[in-house]
Amino acid sequence: MTREVDVCIIGAGSAGLYATGQVARITRNFVIIDPGPLGTTCARVGCMPSKVLIQAADDLWHARHHFAVQGIHGGEDVRADVRAVLAHVRKMRDGFASGPAGKAQKLADAGKLISAPARFVAPDAVEAGGETIRAKAFVIAAGSRPIVPQAWLDTFGPDKLLTTDTLFEQEDLPRRMAVLGMGVIGLEMGQALSRLGIEIVGVDMKETIGGLTDDGVAYSALSLFREEFPIWLGAPAELEPAENGAIRVKAGDNEAVVDKVLVALGRRPNLDRLNLEATGIALDERGLPDFDRQTMRIGDTAIFIAGDANGERQILHEAADEGRIAGYNAATLAKGGEVRRFRRKVPLAIVFTDPNIAMVGETFAALDARLVEDEGFVVGERDFSTQARARVMKANRGILHIYAGTEDGRLLGAEMCIPRGEHIAHELAWAMERQATIADLIAMPFYHPVIEEGLQNALHDAYGQLPDSVKVPGIPDVPFAE
Ligand SMILES: Cc1cc2nc3c(=O)[nH]c(=O)nc-3n(C[C@H](O)[C@H](O)[C@H](O)COP(=O)(O)OP(=O)(O)OC[C@H]3O[C@@H](n4cnc5c(N)ncnc54)[C@H](O)[C@@H]3O)c2cc1C
Repeated sequence: MTREVDVCIIGAGSAGLYATGQVARITRNFVIIDPGPLGTTCARVGCMPSKVLIQAADDLWHARHHFAVQGIHGGEDVRADVRAVLAHVRKMRDGFASGPAGKAQKLADAGKLISAPARFVAPDAVEAGGETIRAKAFVIAAGSRPIVPQAWLDTFGPDKLLTTDTLFEQEDLPRRMAVLGMGVIGLEMGQALSRLGIEIVGVDMKETIGGLTDDGVAYSALSLFREEFPIWLGAPAELEPAENGAIRVKAGDNEAVVDKVLVALGRRPNLDRLNLEATGIALDERGLPDFDRQTMRIGDTAIFIAGDANGERQILHEAADEGRIAGYNAATLAKGGEVRRFRRKVPLAIVFTDPNIAMVGETFAALDARLVEDEGFVVGERDFSTQARARVMKANRGILHIYAGTEDGRLLGAEMCIPRGEHIAHELAWAMERQATIADLIAMPFYHPVIEEGLQNALHDAYGQLPDSVKVPGIPDVPFAE
């Protein structure tokens, strides 16, 4: 059987569903393909279950460490029932996943969803579930999957070697675990599992954690997390079978025996299963096509790519934006219109550790490569160990660095590991969207006592280092100058 459609969307995850929303406004002649499970990575095995687990872990940790000193008794006896915590995670997860799964089901009921994997058979055709779908334009939104070395899988099997696809499905967790990969996902899960009472060792061959590129912030973050569980950096992990079905983890001079391993070594785009060879698209050494970040179009083809599948910013709000852009452009092109370029948002990344790690705008590493520190850009700092509101919250840990250009005093980016970093990062990203200068931000109201006062201090620190040519009379000596 052959279907002829305007647009074919491959993947009914977040990017695919957002793309479908845009496509449906332009044409009713579309089809979406997904073998399932439906419900999106974010809601089923990603953002949402991980945040539920972190919430439980942080509540426990807070009770244990902060209650007694505030005169509240009983906190020292609080314990996690890991089985019950995991059951709670699944219950919340089912609620979150039911929304997008329901949307996909509606498409299935309307005969617009094919429940099978898609593979290209020609530049303008895919096969799925025994059907050939010929389309004027395609959106590839096939997502990504955890990277797990096959040799490890062959030796230990999926029961001992967990990923975030299987972690939340566990009925219980063992006493000792290793988390391989101290990027965003590994660090979040490592800290949460450690706080829930599991003996964790974290391993990464890189010298930094959570994606941080600013040594000052990374050093502060690493010392904080190392107070909670051992983190071995700078050497690749090796796994060997140990006695009684355990696993020996080695990295450099370090060694530990654990019962299970959570593999968080990154995520591989699901492009290798799409038979892209049939499209004639050139792929780089990682198997990824080049595409335009403002149109999501691959070269001058009628194929658009959105979300984790393109291997770039593997985060939800970017998948949603990319899906919208790709969907709009695919349907417009299919209807004979012009592909439009869309402005992309200021980069914003948050790691939901405690304290939060966050990165906004240009990273320190990117600025350092582009500009000269002290001449091209300045770094404003606030050490949160003495920040008043953070002290009240018993969360006075970590460092905020903000970067400003010496040419015009504009905010260029920030890296941080601070309490409530998720909110400070948003405020800075929004300010950057408005092209704000440090002086503009100093002129904003800051209440007392709030975490934002720490940001205010970092702004003043940066402002003091800027050349007089970009300073505004009256700032920072008085709040406002007419
Ligand atoms: C543990 C974890 C925590 C995370 N936490 C956060 C967070 O806090 N904040 C944040 O912003 N992001 C977070 N993310 C990232 C976020 O979840 C992803 O960036 C986002 O879900 C990607 O959406 P997507 O549409 O690209 O992929 P998906 O939602 O995975 O959708 C891809 C779809 O394509 C389908 N598919 C695959 N192959 C084929 C094929 N051949 N044919 C047809 N269909 C196919 C799949 O079945 C799937 O339904 C987290 C991720 C993980 C794993």
